[in-house]
Amino acid sequence: MPAIPVLRSPKIIVMSDFDGTIALDDTGNVICDYCISTKRREAIDSQYLSGKITWRQRQEQCWNPIKMPWIQAVSLLKDCRVDPYFSQVISWCAEHNVPFGVVSAGMQNLIQLVFKRNLTQQELSYLEVFSNTAEIGKNDKWTVTFADDSDLGHDKARTIEKVKERYQVTPKVVYLGDGVSDVASAKRADYLFARRGLDLDKWCIENNVAHEAFDDFAYVAKRLEEINQEL
Ligand SMILES: [Mg+2]
Repeated sequence: MPAIPVLRSPKIIVMSDFDGTIALDDTGNVICDYCISTKRREAIDSQYLSGKITWRQRQEQCWNPIKMPWIQAVSLLKDCRVDPYFSQVISWCAEHNVPFGVVSAGMQNLIQLVFKRNLTQQELSYLEVFSNTAEIGKNDKWTVTFADDSDLGHDKARTIEKVKERYQVTPKVVYLGDGVSDVASAKRADYLFARRGLDLDKWCIENNVAHEAFDDFAYVAKRLEEINQEL
């Protein structure tokens, strides 16, 4: 499997959310809920949803109190799985020189933990991951470094634009997501896939945004082949 192609201009690039889209659980919520309680985290989330705080402030309020040894995070996430057909999509992308980027509002160490448990080294090397990072210091205190200076902490739509700019011929963007944090990225997508029945799917329906609902990555692999043929 070749490394992620940068110089060649692909017809499409695939950009995907991680938590709830590739991973079937939300790794950040698992960690935060354990430390600050689900009730507290949901109260912070509703402040964000009602527009009282930015997503970055939401992240700070959820992550700043986290004190947890890494080994405990590893244990809490031991059952976290990726979509059973995710590898099928990576193989398809590698065969067709289509870059696959993961754009996440989550933490790099948690994403890598889940990937290392669920993917081969070869599959892992094909992915490029854009996310925030969390460092665990003395006393097991977690310190979050955001991916950028935006109100989102990681402006995923901006990351997608930067990736597009790498190529001489601008590629079409296939975006995969599940939640509210994917709305801004969804607007930049040429082909939008939303996990069926979840918040992004609902938002698309309410706002009349063209998209396809998907249940698993086997469907995504099939559609990538069709889209690639059409272009
Ligand atoms: Mg998500």
